[in-house]
Amino acid sequence: MTPAKTFAPSANIAELKESATIAVSQRAKALKAQGRQIIDLGAGEPDFDTPEFIRRAAQRAIDAGATRYTAVDGILPLREAIAADANRRWKGSDRVTAAEVVVSGGSKQSLFNACFVLFGPGDEVLVPTPSWTSYYEMVALSRATAVAVVGDANHGFKVTPDLLRAHATARTRGVMLNSPSNPTGSVYSAAELRALLECCAERGWWVFCDEIYIRIAYGAAATSSLDVAPSRDNLVVVNGVAKAYAMTGWRIGWTISPAPVAKAMTAFQSHTTSNAASVSQHAALAALTMRDEADTAVTAMVAQFAARRDAALAILRTEPAIQVIPPNGAFYLYVKAPAVGADPGAAFASRLLEEADVAVVPGSAFFTPDWVRISYAAEQAQVEEAMRRVVTAYRSAP
Ligand code: PLP
Repeated sequence: MTPAKTFAPSANIAELKESATIAVSQRAKALKAQGRQIIDLGAGEPDFDTPEFIRRAAQRAIDAGATRYTAVDGILPLREAIAADANRRWKGSDRVTAAEVVVSGGSKQSLFNACFVLFGPGDEVLVPTPSWTSYYEMVALSRATAVAVVGDANHGFKVTPDLLRAHATARTRGVMLNSPSNPTGSVYSAAELRALLECCAERGWWVFCDEIYIRIAYGAAATSSLDVAPSRDNLVVVNGVAKAYAMTGWRIGWTISPAPVAKAMTAFQSHTTSNAASVSQHAALAALTMRDEADTAVTAMVAQFAARRDAALAILRTEPAIQVIPPNGAFYLYVKAPAVGADPGAAFASRLLEEADVAVVPGSAFFTPDWVRISYAAEQAQVEEAMRRVVTAYRSAP
């Protein structure tokens, strides 16, 4: 047989789109390599180093021989630590056990695994919109259909039970919730989240609660689904160490789900990636169990995010025409682009990059093309300079 010369993608990826956020970062990196001084506010990645106590724990784990395969669903102490954390919030009699936890190579992988084992052809999954770009693709890779449910911009784009019901059909199987949200920074209150979870429980929909930004909240602490869920029978909680502990490259995420779902995900993972990196699991274990050190580190990082957020908002508000969602969590600002052309967000992002050397992500990546997402996971002086350029570019829009 002669090797195929042309690549015809399989039906599995026929609709797959490149991640827009990664594409922006790559374009920014390419321009930097050409010598341009780009302020990259495209990435969803903390700009801090992983705290030292975590790095040391990883070094100790290597020296102690943690260099081999582990259990597919993760080392027991880590799964126990995740369950113990969950039980600090969950007050139901069905205590969370390590058997309900599956550790993977990042919350992205956990979300994909959960989609793949729970959704399939013919299923519809409600995706509050704007949402993180990968939800739509993961649902599609599971051969289910993502149904965008656009929230009210005047309410931080948050959705309500009524909105979910209005988009539901007999085929609806699940809902993807994310609070604090990427890309808006919106945070559901306890009452809002409880109402959504009650609606999902009543309808028997699987509800994914992606809580990857839960420790990055301003003012009040963010509510977890485990604080308010009426039941865990239909709940898949997703979290990881990437954002709160500045551990993006270590690749550790997990799910907490009913045990049969956890078992199916473990079986699936056993044939795809096996266990998450053993050293990274030990690093994550330190992040979750060395609580005093972790709290000190997280508090310091969140304080810096808060200062940048406040400074950025103050500059954007010097131009009253700019509409921005006031973020209560995560590290993003969602800003409405000047109304130019068919894809205002893409036009504005392109002008900012090519003319003002600022990289941001067009809102079309999140199915809301009138907006752009600006990350403030960068040094404060850079964030402030970038915001001044955003204001100038906004005022000079054609
Ligand atoms: N969920 C959301 C909402 C995110 O924004 C991201 C990363 O950008 C992830 C999940 C993935 O995180 P991880 O690095 O744990 O895979």
